[in-house]
Amino acid sequence: LVVSSPLDLQRYRTEFYTLAKSVRDANKKTGDSVAHNFEQLVELGKTNRQLDANDQGIIQVVDWLWQYAFDQRSSDIHLEPRREMGAIRFRIDGVLHTVYQVPLSVMQAMTARIKLLGRMDVVERRRPLDGRIKTRNPGGDEVEMRLSTMPTAFGEKLVMRIFDPDNTVKSFEALGFAPSETQIWEQLVSRPHGIILVTGPTGSGKTTTLYSTLKRVATDEVNVCTIEDPIEMIEASFNQTQVQSAIDLGFAEGLRALMRQDPDIIMVGEIRDLETAEMAIQASLTGHLVFSTLHTNDAASAITRLTDLGVPSYLISSTVIGVLAQRLVRTLCPACKQPDDQLDPATLAEAIKPWRMNGKVNAYKPVGCLDCRMTGFKGRVGLYELLPVSEAIRGGMHPAVDMARIRKTAARDGLRPLRLSGVMKVAEGVTTLDEVLRNTPQWEN
Ligand SMILES: [Zn+2]
Repeated sequence: LVVSSPLDLQRYRTEFYTLAKSVRDANKKTGDSVAHNFEQLVELGKTNRQLDANDQGIIQVVDWLWQYAFDQRSSDIHLEPRREMGAIRFRIDGVLHTVYQVPLSVMQAMTARIKLLGRMDVVERRRPLDGRIKTRNPGGDEVEMRLSTMPTAFGEKLVMRIFDPDNTVKSFEALGFAPSETQIWEQLVSRPHGIILVTGPTGSGKTTTLYSTLKRVATDEVNVCTIEDPIEMIEASFNQTQVQSAIDLGFAEGLRALMRQDPDIIMVGEIRDLETAEMAIQASLTGHLVFSTLHTNDAASAITRLTDLGVPSYLISSTVIGVLAQRLVRTLCPACKQPDDQLDPATLAEAIKPWRMNGKVNAYKPVGCLDCRMTGFKGRVGLYELLPVSEAIRGGMHPAVDMARIRKTAARDGLRPLRLSGVMKVAEGVTTLDEVLRNTPQWEN
């Protein structure tokens, strides 16, 4: 027996019974003649009026799927045909959860319906396809979804990546910046020219940080241009360009063209090669503020990465004004977290050597409730390591890049490494030590 609020009861009753009926109806009608259903679904797109129960079922299932995914704060929806059944999985806070299983024929019809809405070739099921859909979240905001299909052993697998504007632009505080970091970051991003790099692995929240920052600096008086792969969110105050490798419009070519567009602030999705790095440096030297990303473990390594690409150190020291390394960790579910008496402050101290932490440790541990799908975690927050390139740091780049010296200087300047930033969030009861250790590198000397 469990206690439940009337509101939850109402919601789950609708969800389970209405949905179950929709799936049942859809299954009954689609049955073995999936091809027939495909044609009907195509028809559906043309005449929105004459829907029979069969198609209505699929429409309802797809609508439910999106609403449920938004409700659960999912970043991706997977429709996976398996041997017996089709599995529907959501990625929530970076982890996949199986949320429903449907008969294969229903999944095929759902995939067809979604492909249709994404203006994809519904009949083509042997080749990977891409598409996009715009819809609205329960808050009424437009949500963009990027679709991708892949033929697998048991049918066509569909993945929808959700770009929810609510998650793409946030205040610095909501991103997880400490007040001191916000202050330094705001100073850096209001400089008239220079290169600012955001580093971290895929899925570490770099894009969210960049969009949130650009949104902050994009006023009527400046021209903010981006060259991205892909454009994850359309923002009215930016001029955004998508990389198109098929027609040789890469980051470097895009950047070269952008320079003739009278830009003030430029965002280049990623610096992957010397050509792009050189263009970014050129842009910075000619008086522009350039933002970009790199895949490096920590902030200081961004300098080494540029050297490895072939950029001379004097050009790095005269253009790069700041590097922000970041990670995302899951935050404890506020509804069910419990004080963690087992966590020894000495364990925390050990994790952040040679740094020391003052202040009280108020650690919590995950428990799990219905609110967090029994995971104990809800939402994610950023951990940051912000390295403003000071005169002293520049000194570590002449005549050649001296990593040990740069790290030592950074530490003396007050740099807070990723792991320390994480352990401080453990001490505040926001996340767990496991999450931090799993997601952050150890400080290298
Ligand atoms: Zn919970």
